[in-house]
Amino acid sequence: MGNCVFCDIVGGRIPSIRVHEDEDFIALMDINPLTPGHLLLIPRQHFTSTLDMPEPLLAKALPLAKRLAEAAILGVGASAFNIIINNGVESGQAVPHWHLHIVPRKSHQELPLKVGAPADLTKLPFTAAAIRENL
Ligand code: AMP
Ligand code: ZN
Repeated sequence: MGNCVFCDIVGGRIPSIRVHEDEDFIALMDINPLTPGHLLLIPRQHFTSTLDMPEPLLAKALPLAKRLAEAAILGVGASAFNIIINNGVESGQAVPHWHLHIVPRKSHQELPLKVGAPADLTKLPFTAAAIRENL
């Protein structure tokens, strides 16, 4: 789809720091992380909402999200995590290409109210490597 930042990431037209790739999905570091280790799981094919996603793809997404969450927790030393899927502009979905957020959490760590701060790009590859090692 034209003008979709995640389609551009899938196509390699804009850079991303990836922790996992398979025939259906890519998992990458969020560029404005809510917490260290914030990952996005995106399908290679463009779908906007969970309502548009084929059920076989949805059925693959959650086991993969579980595996990514386990790796993210170990990789950044977190103790909990949020899984967030925004569906539609009114829900807060800014990028209209389906994605599942995995947000590692530590005790007493509050989430920023809206969006995260821009990632420190000198550190992000090392956080990604720590997650990859645990996949
Ligand atoms: P949402 O509000 O659910 O649509 O979330 C979109 C997410 O995509 C936000 O957390 C952004 O930080 C993230 N994001 C946007 N552009 C990029 C990018 N080029 N690389 C990585 N993450 C991105
Ligand atoms: Zn797209």
